[in-house]
Amino acid sequence: MTDDATSATIDPNARTSSHGFTADVARLLQMMAHSVYSERDVFLRELVSNAADASEKLRYEALSNEALAAQAGAPLVTIALDKDKRLLTVADNGVGMGRDELVSALGTIANSGTRAFLDKVGGAENKDGLGQGLIGQFGVGFYSVFMVADKVEVTTRRAGSDEAWLWTSDGKGSYEIAPAALEDAPVVGTRVALHLNSDSDEFLEAYRVEHVLREHSGAIAIPIEIIGAPGEEPRRISDGAALWTKPKSDISAEDYNDFYRQLAGQFDEPALTIHWRAEGRTEYTVLAFIPGSRPLDLFDPIRKSKSKLYVRRVLISKEVDLLPAWLRFVRLVVDSADIPLNVSREMAQQSPILGQIGKAITARVTQELTKLAENEPEKFASVWANFGAVVKEGLHEDPQRRDDIFKIARFATTRSAEKTRTLKDYVADLRENQTAIFYLVGHDRKRMAQSPQIEEFAARDVEVLLLDDPVDAFWVTSCVGFDGKPFKSVTQGAADISLVPQKEDAPQPPTPEAGAEVAMLVTKLKEALKEHVDDVRVSTRLRESAVCLIAPEHGLDRRLAQLLAEHGQGGALGKPVLEVNPRHAAILELARAPEGDEARDGYFLLLDLARIADGEPPIDASAFARRLTARLAKGGA
Ligand code: ADP
Ligand code: MG
Repeated sequence: MTDDATSATIDPNARTSSHGFTADVARLLQMMAHSVYSERDVFLRELVSNAADASEKLRYEALSNEALAAQAGAPLVTIALDKDKRLLTVADNGVGMGRDELVSALGTIANSGTRAFLDKVGGAENKDGLGQGLIGQFGVGFYSVFMVADKVEVTTRRAGSDEAWLWTSDGKGSYEIAPAALEDAPVVGTRVALHLNSDSDEFLEAYRVEHVLREHSGAIAIPIEIIGAPGEEPRRISDGAALWTKPKSDISAEDYNDFYRQLAGQFDEPALTIHWRAEGRTEYTVLAFIPGSRPLDLFDPIRKSKSKLYVRRVLISKEVDLLPAWLRFVRLVVDSADIPLNVSREMAQQSPILGQIGKAITARVTQELTKLAENEPEKFASVWANFGAVVKEGLHEDPQRRDDIFKIARFATTRSAEKTRTLKDYVADLRENQTAIFYLVGHDRKRMAQSPQIEEFAARDVEVLLLDDPVDAFWVTSCVGFDGKPFKSVTQGAADISLVPQKEDAPQPPTPEAGAEVAMLVTKLKEALKEHVDDVRVSTRLRESAVCLIAPEHGLDRRLAQLLAEHGQGGALGKPVLEVNPRHAAILELARAPEGDEARDGYFLLLDLARIADGEPPIDASAFARRLTARLAKGGA
């Protein structure tokens, strides 16, 4: 192979010539043939973007050439399908190609996208896969047509020329160039006809072609029409302007909704649409949506955000991870002129510019959510209901943005089961002498509101956050506090609210008369239950219930420990502390009961009752049943 782009044999009479592709092209074609199914549709993107380039070139040349100006009509790409002939044709009215241009443009890999692609896969070439998984991410150019066609004919007429040419190839190593009759050629521009191979029936279906084009149409700056079958009227499927590049005033709510549905693959309406252009050191445009409902993959363990990255309206990656995991439900397109065009997804992901853009977008989305929460609380409530559990992950793993997240986070509390509250609300309504933000973690808000552990809090009107998302158990232990107030679990350690005044209408509990007897009972309980509890103590948090379980002061919160155990992390659930209500009749009764098996049964019943109130099974279900039945047989005494 020579250094020349091609080796040609020219037939001087017919001016028809046969050429071999350069070695690199042959290699590329080989890779294309092995490409995976989902990447094959990039050929449409390539053809249409070439058409857009060609029409831009013609408009540029026309600036200084009046003859061309007369030829340059409104740019248009027309895609025609013919099932019978198995033909897909892409025609443009752009600048076209002369003979030499055809040789250099379609016979070599001078274009940078293809070069970059080959450089990238070059090292991996001998391994299996031949660079599979990469094709869709590169501008692989014109040669991608050979993924779907076994013969390609390019008929082209250079603007201002009275010659037309036909380029033909089967993509197997050589191509031919011959003169074309003017009446068979476009008046100006290029027509690429693909004889589709037997694997590519899908591209004879108008809906399929339309779908692929729509996916890319946002990026394609040329109007597109489709002729679904010979003789059919052309149908316009794209007006050639990327939605995000238009001024907001030219975009209807319906346009935004359509675009969102395409982007998110959902059929609802976005709850929030954010569209802005950043100017300054880095310039980019963002069109972002908060979905109106939960996407199916919201809790996918991969936890990656999936944004579409365009560079000057060329799609670089469909799934660039731009946002922190706690905003992974945001669907967005970002288009920047400041990112190098020929980058792979991996390289794009590492670009420092992209990192900056991601940060700026995160800040903006958070800010818009804050605004929505303030100005349209009802709308925000549905966003929070859908995505709050994900956003709260950020409290745990994104400490830098914790304060911002606290501004939008909403919580159910004992004050209002329906209306959620912010921590700011909570702190503003702190009770006299209240020094902490109290919370209860659990599964079910309704049952949590009935927990024995919060009885004393209710009597003193101390608000308790009811945290019922699994993630709550994590952030609440990793956050130091809010506004100088520490978070404190009502199921852990001693409840320190004795200095908070009681509610006026709170029923006054009888003063414990049996201090010494209860103290004795506590000692006996410790001994009898030592295998199951860490400690037993007199409670300051119970009013109506006899007993409850709490976590020791310096252990893990019980709910967090449960969650960790469920996920196979952390050892077994640590032993809890049993608290007894010194004013409760059942406790006093038991304190006065004579020692013996019956009293012992009573101790175990107390523990089991406390476990049941926490949603845990009794220690030994059959023993529990036997003990309880014996009590009932005695008339409940
Ligand atoms: P790239 O577009 O990155 O240059 P391609 O492989 O897509 O690479 O195309 C190679 C070249 O072929 C283009 O640079 C252009 O000169 C020429 N070309 C391809 N399609 C057309 C077209 N429809 N009209 C005019 N020129 C074209
Ligand atoms: Mg191209």
